[in-house]
Amino acid sequence: MDKLPDQPITTVVAIKGKLRFPHGYCSGAGEGDTFSDHPLRRNLDGEPELEGKSIAGALYHHLRQNYPGRQPIIDLLFGRDDKSLSSPLQVEHLRPTNAAPGEPGNLRDGVNLRRDRDSARSGRKYDYETSVRGLEMVLRLRLELRRDCPHRDELLQLLATLLRDLEAGRCRFGGRTGVGFGQVSVNELQARQIDLPAQFPAYLLSPDPAADTAGEFSPFPGEDITLLKPETETLTAALSCRITAAHPLLIQDGGRTEAPVVKTPDNKNETETDAWPVTLREVCGNQVEVITGPGTRGLLRTRCEKILRSLRKEACDPGASACEETIKQEIKTLAANDPDYQDKRKRIINAHSCPTCRIFGNRYRRGRVTCSDTVVDGSSRKLLFSVPLNRFTGGPGNLFNRLPLLKGDFTLKIEARNLGGEETTLLLLALRDLADNESIPLRFGGGRRHGYGRVSTKTVAINDENAALTELLTEENRKQEWENFLE
Ligand SMILES: [Zn+2]
Repeated sequence: MDKLPDQPITTVVAIKGKLRFPHGYCSGAGEGDTFSDHPLRRNLDGEPELEGKSIAGALYHHLRQNYPGRQPIIDLLFGRDDKSLSSPLQVEHLRPTNAAPGEPGNLRDGVNLRRDRDSARSGRKYDYETSVRGLEMVLRLRLELRRDCPHRDELLQLLATLLRDLEAGRCRFGGRTGVGFGQVSVNELQARQIDLPAQFPAYLLSPDPAADTAGEFSPFPGEDITLLKPETETLTAALSCRITAAHPLLIQDGGRTEAPVVKTPDNKNETETDAWPVTLREVCGNQVEVITGPGTRGLLRTRCEKILRSLRKEACDPGASACEETIKQEIKTLAANDPDYQDKRKRIINAHSCPTCRIFGNRYRRGRVTCSDTVVDGSSRKLLFSVPLNRFTGGPGNLFNRLPLLKGDFTLKIEARNLGGEETTLLLLALRDLADNESIPLRFGGGRRHGYGRVSTKTVAINDENAALTELLTEENRKQEWENFLE
C-alpha cells in the first residue's frame, strides 16, 4: 500500500475516555536515577506520563495479536516504522488526572531466583517503579481520513473494534503485563464522527468534539459498522480463588519502605521490625497490603518446575537459562539475510522452550499466564520473635522479629491464555497444591520453612463457574491429557 494521497480531510473521529489502571502500570524512563534502577517515565512537572507512541504501540500490538489477518489495514492505521506510511491516527500523551505531580509510585523488587535453592542469585537484585494503584488518565485519540482514502471503511471498522476491546478491558499498556501491570478499565468512553467540510464550522467552534454536548456530530461507531470477531480465541481459563491465610503470612518488603516501629507484645517498649509486609500506595494515599503478582507467578513457576523435575521431565531454571542459552546458540546459526529468518527464529524458540517456559515465558517469548497483585482484606499484623540457635555454641543467636499477617482474605486471579493441553495440565497440577489437604502445599511469601504462608482455599472459580481444586484433574477430558503428560 502506498502513501495516502495528499487530499483534504473529509472525516474526523474524535475519541475520549477515562482510563483507570487498577494495579498501576510500568513504563520506564530508560535509565536509572537515585530513586530506582528503573524509574517511571515522568514529565518536567514530575507527573508520570505515558507517551502517545507507547499507547499506539500497545494498541497496535493488541490488534496484531487478535486480528492477524488484518495486518495490512493495521499497518495503514498505525503507519510504518520506516516512515513510508504515516498514521492517520493521532494518540496524545497521557497524564494522570487524580494524582499530585511528583507523588512517588511504588517501588517493586525484581529478583532473579535460583529456583533450585529458593534463594536470590547474587548481584541479580534490582528494583523498578510502577505507578500508584488506581491511577487515572484521559485517553484521547483522533483519526483523520482524507478524501479517496483507500480502505476507508475497513479503517473505521478496525478503529470501532479497537474501541470495543478497550472498553472490554482487553488491551494492556506499558511493560511487565504478565504480572498484571497495565491492565486498564475504560469508562465514560465518548466517540464522535465529524464530516468535513459540512460540519467544519461546528468542528472549529467545538471545545471538545469527542464530548460534543450540543449533539452536532454523529456517535461513533454508527450502526452500519460491523465489529470484527477476534481471530484467535485466546482465553483458556480465568481462575479466581478466595483464600484465607491459615498461618502467619509474610510477603516481605525488600527494604523499599521504612521499617515500621511497633510496640513489643508487653506494650512497654517500641521496637523496629526486621521483616515486614509489602504495602503498596493507592492513588488516594492509602497503603494496602498485597500478595504480589510477580511473587505468585514465581511461586507457580517454581512449583511447575518442581513437578516436572519429579517426573524426570525437562525443566529449565531461568536463572541458569537452560532454554534461553540453547535458543541463543541456535539462533546464532541462522543467516541474518535469510528471507525466512523470522519464521525459522520462531520455530527455534518453540522447539527449545520447555513446558514451564511455554507457560511463563522467557527472554524470547511472552508468558501466557498473568497473575496480578491482589489486596489482602481484613488483615491483622502481629510481631513475632524468633531466636535462632547458634549452631556453633548451641546457645541463642541474634533475636530476630517478623511482622507477618496473622489473618486476612485475598482473591487470587490468574488468567491463562492459549495454553496447550499439556501446559494446562501442568498449571492445574500446580494450582491443585493450593488445596488444604495437600501434603506439600503451595505456600505464599517468606518463612516457608518455618511454617509461614500456608493458606486455606475456600472457593475456586474457573471462568466464573465454581470448581473444586481436587476435581480439576479428574474430569474425563483432563484424565486423558494427564495420562499423555505422564508418558
Ligand atoms: Zn525453559
